[in-house]
Amino acid sequence: MMRLTPIRITITIALALLCGALLPCRGAAAPEKKTALKNETAAAMNAIAESYVKLALAVGVHDPLYVDAYFGPEAWQAKAKEERKSLAAIEREAAPLIARLEKLDVSKDEEIVRLRRQFLVKQIESLIARSRMLQGVKLSFDDESNALFDVIAPRHDDEYFRAKLGRIDSILPQGTGTLVERYERFRKDFIIPKEKLDPVFAAAIAEARRRTREHMALPDGESFSVEYVTGKSWGAYNWYKGHYHSLIQVNTELPVYIDSPIGLACHEGYPGHHVQNVLSEERLVNERGWVEFTVSPLFSPLSPINEGGANFAVEVAFPGDERIAFERDVLYPLAGIDPSKAGAYSAVQKLLRELNYAENEAGRRYLNGEISADSAAAYLTTYALMPIARAKRLVAFMGEYRSYIVNYNVGYDLVKHWIERMGGTPDHPEKRWEEYARLVSAPWVPSELK
Ligand SMILES: [Zn+2]
Repeated sequence: MMRLTPIRITITIALALLCGALLPCRGAAAPEKKTALKNETAAAMNAIAESYVKLALAVGVHDPLYVDAYFGPEAWQAKAKEERKSLAAIEREAAPLIARLEKLDVSKDEEIVRLRRQFLVKQIESLIARSRMLQGVKLSFDDESNALFDVIAPRHDDEYFRAKLGRIDSILPQGTGTLVERYERFRKDFIIPKEKLDPVFAAAIAEARRRTREHMALPDGESFSVEYVTGKSWGAYNWYKGHYHSLIQVNTELPVYIDSPIGLACHEGYPGHHVQNVLSEERLVNERGWVEFTVSPLFSPLSPINEGGANFAVEVAFPGDERIAFERDVLYPLAGIDPSKAGAYSAVQKLLRELNYAENEAGRRYLNGEISADSAAAYLTTYALMPIARAKRLVAFMGEYRSYIVNYNVGYDLVKHWIERMGGTPDHPEKRWEEYARLVSAPWVPSELK
């Protein structure tokens, strides 16, 4: 999911089998090497995983947002709907699964098995927290993000944002009105005309895919399609359908700016959500038979890694100045926008991104009941320089998805810092690809990356 503002484009892509991958095959160890004890542990973990999937589907019966994707046995889904297990019963059945997982000794197993156990513990803890919220338990913004997503957003006072706004003030063209009004005036020149949206987005997606295919092995036949929607609180959404197929929906209500196509192509597609889901299905479900990865709860410790990773994906695919060069040389001319302005626009956008923690501050105050929805929108207008229509849409998003907003920026920082600690610094773009692939091919949780 991404709070972008794109377009109108319809694409279905089928990719050929790729060779020369950076990634080693992560197939299961040869059976003869497994000890009886390891088999026992694996069987126990598989049984717990199956129970967890069924409980996640049961929560989904009460909460239409909860199950973001499911491509496991249809009979499990049907049974969950038929049973309509109470939230209290779900909670009662989930708690002992954690105790069972904690008793399993995985100290001598390979890293991915240890990660799997921790992933299941965190997923089940998050599922219990969501069940409690659905039963009326109220958590503060920070307690909620910690319980659901395994992350807490840092706090920033207004002064922190004012200093950044001062820098934006100094580089925006002078003129009358408030800073957000001046920003909006400046930004008008960078709106993609409706009739140019198709070619611009197609070029961005093709380039993001080309770059990803050069560095990551994707399974034969992976594909996605794009649909255009309105009346949603998000900008774009990737609905993963299983069998390596995604449906990407794009909200076309608000204007689309020239930086959106690369952002959307990388975040929702390559190497963002589509690739994350495809690799998880291929490596974890199909190669290892780990059924827990057939379900993706939206409220889950996987969200900071997926959303943060999808945001960081732009810098993986377009390191250094490559994004601005591609936008200036290819997308600006396609959109009929003056490429000589690309540098100035990019500089402003870079500073704007530094304001995104204002979203968490607005969300924390709004969801903690300290300020009204209107005040939250006004705060976003002042401190995140959002025009009022966009600010109101984000407040609606917060009302619906609550502390989910932390996943975009806290998740981004988490993923970026981890990949850079692993050696994937801006000077080592190949290592970035390698570590990004390692991150999205295994069941990491945020506390493991901190
Ligand atoms: Zn997203």
